[in-house]
Amino acid sequence: MAGVTLNKVIKRYGDVQVIHGIDLEIADGEFCVFVGPSGCGKSTLLRMVAGLEETTEGSMHIGDRDVTRMDPSQRGVAMVFQTYALYPHMTVKDNMGFGLKMNKHPKAEIEAKVAEATRILKLEDYLDRKPAALSGGQRQRVSIGRAIVRGPDVFLFDEPLSNLDAELRVEMRVEIARLHKEIGATMIYVTHDQVEAMTLADKIVVLRKGVIEQVGAPMDLYRDPDNRFVAGFIGSPAMNFMSGKVGTGEVAIPNLGQTIPTPIAPAYKGHDVIAGVRPEHLSIDPAGDALTVDLVESLGGVSFAYLSGATGEKLVVEERGDERVSEGQTVSVTFDPSRLYLFDAKTEQRIRT
Ligand code: ADP
Ligand code: MG
Repeated sequence: MAGVTLNKVIKRYGDVQVIHGIDLEIADGEFCVFVGPSGCGKSTLLRMVAGLEETTEGSMHIGDRDVTRMDPSQRGVAMVFQTYALYPHMTVKDNMGFGLKMNKHPKAEIEAKVAEATRILKLEDYLDRKPAALSGGQRQRVSIGRAIVRGPDVFLFDEPLSNLDAELRVEMRVEIARLHKEIGATMIYVTHDQVEAMTLADKIVVLRKGVIEQVGAPMDLYRDPDNRFVAGFIGSPAMNFMSGKVGTGEVAIPNLGQTIPTPIAPAYKGHDVIAGVRPEHLSIDPAGDALTVDLVESLGGVSFAYLSGATGEKLVVEERGDERVSEGQTVSVTFDPSRLYLFDAKTEQRIRT
């Protein structure tokens, strides 16, 4: 068992720098999720930890071992890929045991470890099948089993659920959470899906263009984002953003036709800000006329109303209960002023009040 420490880690491909000096501490046994949009460097960073990509500058430790220049096989990590990477001509059992067999572990030890992984992943009924005779979820379970058999200090997952359909993704997500509880090993999990990040992580690392935007527990990022990017990335549907101008103890939001009281410092008077409110914190006032209802999506227990206001800025309101608005109607929105987030219009950094 071991934690992972990254110290000023940089990755360059020729002249192109894709990872810009990452400092990160992942505790022993922690479930850490790297999340961010496609191309932000999640896989690159994970593959650097695995040793599949060379680290250009900086250092990495697993436990107290400096692994920066070590071969993948010496690092005590096991990786699970999006595309299962199973050997098609081998049975499930042989796929799981293959790594240990190659390293000439005794047969009895291999059997015992494969049996343990089989039990954890409930693969008993599939041991003699070849990958072609398995569903996507079963194949991914086998590739996780192969990682378990190796008994790594650190599990590395690169978007392991992206090839599965929506229902299976939820099922496997629950399995992976259970796996972490049972094994208790350090896990680093890459995804572009913020729902996976929120539900699985002890710690989320939000990446953007090879830089860490914020690190924190899921609900801390949701409640207390450092900047507009994190505020917009964590939470679904995304936070609504509108332009605003700071007055004395208040912020005017022209799109809503409202001025919201806020304890913002007097020094910000006249400052341009981005005002953010989450869809779930807005309520519709059908008597108002500041906004037009463009579209309503009803999902059953919840519905989403898409509105546009005086400035043309769009926003989404999440509604629960039976009172529903209809398209074309004019309305206003209300919210608890403590739910308002403010960001500097230029730097997009949070202005905490
Ligand atoms: P993510 O996994 O977050 O979608 P990646 O880590 O795959 O992103 O890629 C990060 C950036 O590095 C991208 O801009 C990608 O084009 C670039 N990149 C990845 N691999 C290479 C490579 N072998 N050569 C040059 N650029 C690469
Ligand atoms: Mg990737």
